[in-house]
Amino acid sequence: MNTNELWQAVLGELELTLSKANFTTWFKHTFISHVDENSVVIGVPNMFTKAWLEKKYSKEILRSLQELSNNSIKQLTYRVEARPAAPQAVPVFEKEKAPEPAPSYAQPTHYGQTHTHTHAAPVKEIRTGEFSLNGKYCFGTFIVGKQNELAHAASQAVSTQPGGVYNPLFIYGGVGLGKTHLLQAIGNELMRKNPNTKILYVTCERFTNDFIGALRSNRINEFKNRYRTVDVLLVDDIQFITGKEGTQEEFFHTFNQLYQNNKQIVISSDRPPKAIPALEDRLVSRFECGMLADVGSPDFETRCAILDTKCREKQYQMEREIMHHVATVVQTNVRELEGALNKIIAFHQFKNARPTLDTVKPILTSFQPASIRKSVTPKQLIQTVAVYFDIQIEDLLGKSRQKRLAFPRQIVMYLMREEMKSSYPSIGTELGGRDHTTAMHAYDKISNCLLEDEKLQHDLELIKQKMYAM
Ligand code: ADP
Ligand code: MG
Repeated sequence: MNTNELWQAVLGELELTLSKANFTTWFKHTFISHVDENSVVIGVPNMFTKAWLEKKYSKEILRSLQELSNNSIKQLTYRVEARPAAPQAVPVFEKEKAPEPAPSYAQPTHYGQTHTHTHAAPVKEIRTGEFSLNGKYCFGTFIVGKQNELAHAASQAVSTQPGGVYNPLFIYGGVGLGKTHLLQAIGNELMRKNPNTKILYVTCERFTNDFIGALRSNRINEFKNRYRTVDVLLVDDIQFITGKEGTQEEFFHTFNQLYQNNKQIVISSDRPPKAIPALEDRLVSRFECGMLADVGSPDFETRCAILDTKCREKQYQMEREIMHHVATVVQTNVRELEGALNKIIAFHQFKNARPTLDTVKPILTSFQPASIRKSVTPKQLIQTVAVYFDIQIEDLLGKSRQKRLAFPRQIVMYLMREEMKSSYPSIGTELGGRDHTTAMHAYDKISNCLLEDEKLQHDLELIKQKMYAM
């Protein structure tokens, strides 16, 4: 076995135990740089990878090397160096000249001088403060667990050396798992270090609308100037670019321009680049050429840590037992975890009582995964609502438009949609043969009222508790 084969064998084993994102990120540019009888030196592309491999993967790598070498290899070290072998295919947009050193962020940079195209419009100064960076999203308030440590570490690396280590950084994962938080934390951290850094945080939707607006009003130069002269571009929820060909094209050029100037690009998405439908291949390959990092659902310990921190932030005391219960029931994502906590706090402030397991449990029924929640039939729902408002079932389903009947009826329709995912036509049928548009109207109306009406929120909470307890 030569060194290359040996390393491929090690990688083959590691690949089985790691997520694709992790594996590609950490092992893409690694190789065995030197072997002797009992030690191996692994070549890695940068200090960051070196530190990460030392900390996280040394044991596994060594174990695997030992197995493959009949236990002769005892020692493992890492060295930052470029792989000497035949270079891999280089993406076409890779810089032609030797890469310039990353711009120094200790000094204010002079903007508008690095790009070559000319503008009719005067260069408009972009002040970062305008771009909706929210100070509450910072690294300090981000809880790190196994499921997000890669994305977190990469984000920190980017905010230490923008345009340097990982470009672009592509963070992906389900809703409510901290992608926006990380993007914003990068922006905030860079601003803190150097308030002159030009940072642009936009959602994909905003980018699209800006672009379309610029086209319509003949201000495309201004648009280009705005997006192509920043130091750091943070684009949130890029998956919404699908199907918008013109926007993809424009984004492609924006990307290239920034990339060629060593400007940092960070992108978030709800799925990896390849899985975004109708995303042009050239964009997929650009997104994949930097660092891909996934964020997953937090495990139990992380959920507890998040609750603990949020309680402290809100100066709210909650016993450990109750916190554990919340962390057990609410498993999906961090946003729901915060939602559950807010609900508990609001409920107990309203009652002026301290939370106990008995008072907390019913509040959390709506957060339980559907699989362990009891399934409820429309009949049971109708019955619960009738009892709750103290009206007859026949009246609830009947024709009368009196408010004391019509409002509970709308609540039934809302809950059938929200909790049972019933279709509008079938909701109409269950409610005494009404039209589907009536069901749609009811759903919209209750949804709107819920935004402001605390009593209604409370009513629905109680109805759901009763219904699921049936
Ligand atoms: P996404 O953009 O992935 O949908 P967000 O970044 O909007 O998710 O996160 C949803 C909420 O959860 C935000 O309030 C965010 O601050 C919080 N949050 C997410 N992950 C974490 C974490 N690891 N530590 C602390 N708060 C988090
Ligand atoms: Mg988000």
